[in-house]
Amino acid sequence: MLDILERYPDRFEVVGLTGWGNVDTLKAQMLRHRPKVVAVGDEEKAELLRSDVGLKGIDVVWGSEGLLEVATVSGADMLVSAIVGSAGLMPTFAAIQAGRDIALANKETLVAAGRLVMDEVKRRDVKLLPVDSEHSAIFQSLAGHNRNDVKRLILTASGGPFRGKSREELSSVRVQDALNHPTWSMGRKITIDSATLMNKGLEVIEARWLFDVPGDRIDVTVHPQSIVHSMVEYIDGSVVSQMGLPDMKGAIAYALSYPDRIEAAPPFLDLAAVGQLTFEEPDMDAFPALGLCYRAMEIGGAAPAVLSAANEVVVEAFLDEKIGFTSMAAVMEAVLDSHSSSEPSSIADVLRADLWGRDAARREMENLIKKVAKQ
Ligand code: MG
Repeated sequence: MLDILERYPDRFEVVGLTGWGNVDTLKAQMLRHRPKVVAVGDEEKAELLRSDVGLKGIDVVWGSEGLLEVATVSGADMLVSAIVGSAGLMPTFAAIQAGRDIALANKETLVAAGRLVMDEVKRRDVKLLPVDSEHSAIFQSLAGHNRNDVKRLILTASGGPFRGKSREELSSVRVQDALNHPTWSMGRKITIDSATLMNKGLEVIEARWLFDVPGDRIDVTVHPQSIVHSMVEYIDGSVVSQMGLPDMKGAIAYALSYPDRIEAAPPFLDLAAVGQLTFEEPDMDAFPALGLCYRAMEIGGAAPAVLSAANEVVVEAFLDEKIGFTSMAAVMEAVLDSHSSSEPSSIADVLRADLWGRDAARREMENLIKKVAKQ
């Protein structure tokens, strides 16, 4: 994203930055962009950057409070929200309340708190622009059309590294195999979510809120080439899609420059070189996480928040090799079964549901591990 901003120094200025992991990368970015404020994960990292003479004049803050400071820093027009997981919810919500437009790459914000977030977006009259390639594609495919003419949204899914595998075969896949995504290069959590199709399920829930289309009118089609980024079907049978090579630059640039288009230096699409575009139904039996997302959406209330939080816990456990690939969905299903949903009336309610989902996932994981040990 910073590459795109650097191409247009007259258009964009970086006012705040966050970085949880690599201090060296962050330091290089700070020197280059000289933001007003930067948030890091802990006090130790903050002290390290504060004591750097080259960074004098840049306010360094830390922790979740620090994130809120960056999200609401004065002088900013837009927040690019790209923190992974429900940790992105509070800062994104705070930025909306502060009247900032949002370029949204964090999925969990809308999954967990869709109704509250969209109400706040309307109340503050801010723009919520999707950065995720599927939602950007739908957003672009809706432009210039009448919303009442939309029949359904069709999200494309690459199918991940395990497309075509049966539930049986999936029970023995390894972390390394799951991290090996065929078309997109992404962070570890999203890569695992792509392998389970949980990522697509979360995107369906996100689309439900972002575009105000009920879940039963949002479908998923598996498209392994990842060229058609998603589609909108209209009542006259027309299907409008947005295409491009699988590269995030285009979607990021569009969110930053909307309604203009800017040059993002993407790899350009040569359809003849791609040759074939194929589509198939998702295998709901082998990839039950997708169905769980539809179920949570139908239950409504805090169920999606609970499911998404449980997912974060099981993905971490899978990455730590504590549970197997198919156990992730099994645990999430047990969590959904044991949850009785109510409508969250505040972000605090959502965060409580999130915590409940995490605890329930840990409990169900222990049950599962005990069961396996007995056998
Ligand atoms: Mg996506």
